[in-house]
Formats: sequence, structure tokens, C-alpha cells
Amino acid sequence: MMNKKSIEDIQVKSKKVLVRCDFNVPLDKDGNITDENRIVGAMPTIKYLAENGAKVILCSHMGKPKGEPKSEFSLAPVAKRLSEKLGKEVVFAADDNVVGDNAKKAVAAMNDGDIVLLENTRYRAEETKNIETFSKELASLAEIFVNDAFGTAHRAHCSTVGVTEYLPAVCGYLIQKEIEFLGNAVNNPVRPLVAILGGSKVSSKISVIENLLDKVDKLIIGGGMAYTFMAAKGQEVGDSLLEKDYIDYAKEMMEKAGDKLLLPIDTVVAKEFNNDAESKVVAEGGIEAGWQGLDIGPKTIELFSDAVRNAKTVVWNGPMGVFEMPSFAKGTNAIAQVLSEIDATTVIGGGDSVAAVNQAGLGDKMSHISTGGGASLEFLEGKELPGIAALQNK
Ligand code: AMP
Repeated sequence: MMNKKSIEDIQVKSKKVLVRCDFNVPLDKDGNITDENRIVGAMPTIKYLAENGAKVILCSHMGKPKGEPKSEFSLAPVAKRLSEKLGKEVVFAADDNVVGDNAKKAVAAMNDGDIVLLENTRYRAEETKNIETFSKELASLAEIFVNDAFGTAHRAHCSTVGVTEYLPAVCGYLIQKEIEFLGNAVNNPVRPLVAILGGSKVSSKISVIENLLDKVDKLIIGGGMAYTFMAAKGQEVGDSLLEKDYIDYAKEMMEKAGDKLLLPIDTVVAKEFNNDAESKVVAEGGIEAGWQGLDIGPKTIELFSDAVRNAKTVVWNGPMGVFEMPSFAKGTNAIAQVLSEIDATTVIGGGDSVAAVNQAGLGDKMSHISTGGGASLEFLEGKELPGIAALQNK
């Protein structure tokens, strides 16, 4: 996965370049974009291509129109916002077929440096099934394909994988950065490498645990998933999250990991799943019936922080507690704080940990914040992402 060709490795001048972006932005009920991060993230690749004289044809999905044109999922607002941000017209090729007469006309009228945005690729039922008719249509518009949508790189769709059958395919800056940081952190890290896993379920992170256990110097497990490990040690966990079916698995992992694995040594427990619930800190093994663990305790914060301070590379996926509730966000915030202070490569692996780091206002202190939830998780699982595998090697 390491050595994929990027837009800087090919000639783009006067070429029609189809770029798969991630413009899956949230809209309010009036169709206004409420978070433009993904648009901002896509700009470096678009600018590079336009400034280097390519004819830039953008495409993306947004939401789930389920294979038919639905105006509330139109990318028209994205074209407008992108034009404003670039200070340059982005022509929106309104077209219920995505690659219909309007799109073809818009592309035919392009000069070098022009930008066209196609309609939502998921207006076409073929898209998510990777059916070749639509892949061919998309490819017929261009001479080169650039994938810059990391968030959908774990899906083999027409606009991520299908088109690469018909066009030379390279990555844009966003995917290049994901490969560099996530890829190196997991496969070629400066050591010690410490991975921090949290979140609610062991079951959803089994493959991540298995893949990382072989590679890391320390594996820290906090959050809701830690209670299944505590139960595996024979401890009571009260009303905490517990996946009984995974207790044996947790035992197996603990044996395999030996002293590589760090688990919580104290817990913030509460009477109810509620920010204002009565709460207290209990030592290891001290969670009583009627109480549930909602955050790591202060001693655990120290233990985990010390392990992290020694690291040269840290990968973090999943909060240490119910960080959405201020009363139970201390553990997660403390970890974010330590990561922001250390002299190490810090990689935030998608999903809720990204939200947690941003909530703590520390996003810009991390080396890399992954933009894909599911895609980052599959990366950490050691899976080959089809949207990246399909790109040309250097
Ligand atoms: P995941 O999607 O599996 O990464 O889990 C993220 C969710 O786990 C967040 O919404 C957290 O609130 C939740 N979570 C973390 N720790 C706990 C806990 N101790 N009890 C219940 N939920 C938790």
C-alpha cells in the first residue's frame, strides 16, 4: 500500500482528470452545508490540478439517495460553496444520469484549468454495486482518474474502483497523506509504537486488536470495551457495558499480549447513564452491582499517560469513556492532552476519537487526523482498501 503514484507523479496539463472527492457533507433541512471540512480538505488536490492546467472533473456521493435522483441529495450546494472558496467558477453539471447529455456538454466546453462538478454518483443504482456500465460512462469523460476520497476507499464502487479498470489511476493529496501517516504508523513506525483503543465494543474492534497486537510495543485498552477484559480477569463489572460472548476472546488476547497490554486500574462509575448521575471513583475490581463504568479513573489516566509519554508513534481509535457527557470526558480529554504535548507522531484513527480531539480543541496539535471512520478502522485492521489497492504503484 505504501508506494502509490500521486498527482505529482504524472503529467496533467491539458488532460481531462476525473477526481473522486469526498463531498459527503451534512446539510440542514434548507439544504445549507453545516460543516464544510470535507470541502476544505479537497481543495489542495483540486487547486494543484487546476493550476497545472488540467481539466478538472469532480465527482462524489452525498448521503443515500439509494440509486435514484433525489433533489435533496444534489451536489449543487457543494459546487456553489466550492466556487466561493476557490474564488473560481465550478460549473455544476446538473444531470439526473450523472453522466448524461448535460455532463458531456459541460466537459466538452472545458478549457485547461476549468472545473466541473458532476451530480451525486449515488443517483445511479450501479454505483454502489460497482457495475461496469456506470464505471465506463464515468471513465469516458476523462483521461486520468484521481482518487482523493479516503472515506469511501474501503468500498469497491464504480467511482472508487470500477473506473480504474479504464483509466490510469493515482491518488490525490488526501489519500496520499492517509497512506503516509496511517500506513507508516502501523507498518513502519518509529518505535516505541503505542496504540490506544477505546469505544463501546470489543466485537467491533476484534480485527484491529489482532492486527495491532503483533505490531505495537504497547496496547492500551480503555472505554466501554475494557469491561469485557475486566470480566475476563474475573472481576465484577456491575452494570457496565459487557459483551459476554467475547470474554473468552478477551482472555485469549490477554494471554497473547502479556505485558504489552494495559487495562484500566480504576474506574469512574455512575448510578445511571446520565451526565448528572451520582458518580464515584472505584479501584480495580470495585465496580458493584447497580453501578456502571463510564470513564477511566485518575490512576488509569496516569498509567496510560506514562505509557504514551514514552512513545515515538501513537495511534488512537476510540474514546476512553462517554466523552459526549462532560462528567465522563476527563479520561478522553486527558489522553488528548498528553498526545498534544509529546514529541511523537500522533495519528488519530477516525470516528469518535476525532470528535473527541476536536472537542478538546487539540485537533491542530496532532500529526494526522484521519478523515475516514470505517476506512481508518479497516486500515488499522491491516486490510487492503480496494480504493487504494486499485491505484498505480510507483
Ligand atoms: P465506538 O463507536 O465503538 O468507537 O464507540 C464510541 C462510543 O463509545 C462513544 O459514543 C462513547 O460514548 C462510548 N463509550 C465509551 N466508553 C463507554 C463506557 N464506559 N460506557 C458506555 N459507552 C462508552
